[in-house]
Amino acid sequence: MSNSDLKPIHVIGGGMAGSEATWQIAQAGVPVVLHEMRPVRKTDAHQGEGLAELVCSNSFRSDDYENNAVGLLHEEMRRMDSLIMLAASLHMVPAGGALAVDRNDFSDEVTRRLESHPLVTIVREEITELPPEDWDSVIIATGPLTSESMSEIIAGITGEEYLAFFDAIAPIVYKDSINFDKAWFQSRYDKIGPEGDGADYINCPLNREQYETFIEALITSEKTDFKEWEENTPYFEGCLPIEVMASRGAETLRFGPMKPVGLTNPHSDEEPYAVVQLRQDNKLGTIYNIVGFQTKMKYAAQVEIFRAIPGLEEAEFARLGGLHRNTFLKSPQLLDSSLRMKPQPRLRFAGQITGVEGYVESASMGLMAGRFAAAERLGKELSAPPITTAHGALINHVTGGADAKTFQPMNVNFGIFPNLPKEPGKKPKKKDRKPLYSKRALEDLQSWLESSN
Ligand SMILES: Cc1cc2nc3c(=O)[nH]c(=O)nc-3n(C[C@H](O)[C@H](O)[C@H](O)COP(=O)(O)OP(=O)(O)OC[C@H]3O[C@@H](n4cnc5c(N)ncnc54)[C@H](O)[C@@H]3O)c2cc1C
Repeated sequence: MSNSDLKPIHVIGGGMAGSEATWQIAQAGVPVVLHEMRPVRKTDAHQGEGLAELVCSNSFRSDDYENNAVGLLHEEMRRMDSLIMLAASLHMVPAGGALAVDRNDFSDEVTRRLESHPLVTIVREEITELPPEDWDSVIIATGPLTSESMSEIIAGITGEEYLAFFDAIAPIVYKDSINFDKAWFQSRYDKIGPEGDGADYINCPLNREQYETFIEALITSEKTDFKEWEENTPYFEGCLPIEVMASRGAETLRFGPMKPVGLTNPHSDEEPYAVVQLRQDNKLGTIYNIVGFQTKMKYAAQVEIFRAIPGLEEAEFARLGGLHRNTFLKSPQLLDSSLRMKPQPRLRFAGQITGVEGYVESASMGLMAGRFAAAERLGKELSAPPITTAHGALINHVTGGADAKTFQPMNVNFGIFPNLPKEPGKKPKKKDRKPLYSKRALEDLQSWLESSN
């Protein structure tokens, strides 16, 4: 049997992830049918009918693979024959250290290459029902604006509680940028929860003056607006932006996420007037989110205001807070390490719906889902790349590394990589660590590629 006689894999959604997945499958020699609903049915954000349309910025962010985790993701994708990276390099526009593209030429390139590939069939239709049993390998890559019918299909399999329609992201801080001369580890009332030890939270104390200044700064800070089409998607009271809570009364936060009770500051005899708590965000314990601090403040305002919190003066953020319409799965509970849905393993997920965030991260999850599905069809074993690579770190984060209870979409960043091995007597400076992460990632990716061929 020639490969073109193999049963096709079906990909639903021809955005960043679906286009890359389709390419990877076809390049592996496996037939693939891509189902894209545009132009038959539009989304609130897409303008045209091209595949891999960039809905907002035309930037893929930093292209510096030695010092930046997204640059590293670019490089790894290039080494895995990525169509998205190929089209980006053919249609680059000047953007300093960033990789930015002419969005129309970029999308045309992706569309043309997929349309002309002998193993690719593109069908312009909205998938509104559970894919028939006959489709034994399906990749769902319908994105943050997944159509209502597809959301219903997914919720029908998983239960509503496994699908979110809004992200409410609190800022995430690298633990090693927190000043423990001021902050301390302690759970409220030293309570020992599941898998905890009574000292699970990082606490940052504020005195009365610091608290009042903080509240004033929140209220007067610059905010981003909801897009017109987001306005009617309600977010829950439990996910109110911190600045909205602050505007409801000066004491609201002190009786909410910043309550100072059950905590003893080991660095001072003075009782804190309010406390900011940070909770571990990944199993590795390298990143912590600020509890209850989802926000729509502009990024610059967030950095300024959060660095005024004692202990966070030098905080480095793995990601800043946000609140957007965004359909995503509770992937840490639902997906296995090859992005298959545990209750229905013939369905894989890729792209932003898996709980990654950003064009490049979405495309990279498409790349992996495509490779996993193609290998499976060809009867080969393919495990996820090592967690020390950018692809492996992202997959690990969304399929189990992140805390399932508080799971929110994530950009790639070095905080989700395992720490570098400690060498006795040597601690590389912060600026020297990133190239070491990258070097290790590219070496490990190479070994993984060689072992999986
Ligand atoms: C408004 C907005 C702005 C954003 N701006 C940026 C940004 O500036 N930079 C950045 O890095 N990230 C941005 N993102 C985040 C994200 O990275 C992008 O949305 C990215 O395109 C996600 O890739 P994806 O492949 O998962 O989804 P998409 O690229 O959205 O692709 C999903 C595709 O599935 C199709 N589809 C949906 N339902 C069905 C169905 N039932 N049947 C068939 N087809 C279907 C859609 O038409 C679409 O083509 C933004 C997101 C949004 C919503």
